[in-house]
Amino acid sequence: MTKPNIPFDIAQIRGFLSTTEGEALYRVGLQASKYGPLAEIGSYCGKSTVFLGLAAKTQGSILFAIDHHNGSEEHQPGEEYHDSSLFDSQTGMMDSFREFRKTVKKADLEQTVVPIVAPSEVASYKWRTPLSMLFIDGGHSQKAAMIDYLGWSPHIIENGILAIHDIYDTPAEGGQAPREIASLAVASGQFKAEQRIGCLGFFRRLSAYHY
Ligand code: MG
Repeated sequence: MTKPNIPFDIAQIRGFLSTTEGEALYRVGLQASKYGPLAEIGSYCGKSTVFLGLAAKTQGSILFAIDHHNGSEEHQPGEEYHDSSLFDSQTGMMDSFREFRKTVKKADLEQTVVPIVAPSEVASYKWRTPLSMLFIDGGHSQKAAMIDYLGWSPHIIENGILAIHDIYDTPAEGGQAPREIASLAVASGQFKAEQRIGCLGFFRRLSAYHY
């Protein structure tokens, strides 16, 4: 099975993506990168960026990595996934961009990864570049997930891939917003479910969306 050649122990990078899921992103990204650039929404410290970035690099493509780097709801002080080492006491905000840059440098992806440090919604307003693959792993509130889906999925090319992280079948396992946008994608008739690795789902666009 094709695996990325990561020049360090990926477990050192903070994040919520399993290695199995990361390797699946790499495999799918490797195929998709032949047809255009990739984009991810929600980079955090760059774990998924390494897998998708290495896939893009192999094919001479690029990865747009969109994140405001101020942390999602669940990363804020007092919340379940808060990491105090990422808290900037001068600004009073979370800041994952420093760690993200370190990861990108370590993986030698500075010529492949294009960071966009902005809220996903703002970055999407004037976006016109077709994407061969979109990975959504941003905010997990219903509103944030809908903004990511509605703002970015129209840019996926025909036969391109929509990947969504944190799809849980029951509320007991986790928040339902990612599952809801996955259902919307299928219900729209524009995407068909292809495979599921852990809580990572892959969907293929059936026909191009004209915008
Ligand atoms: Mg996630």
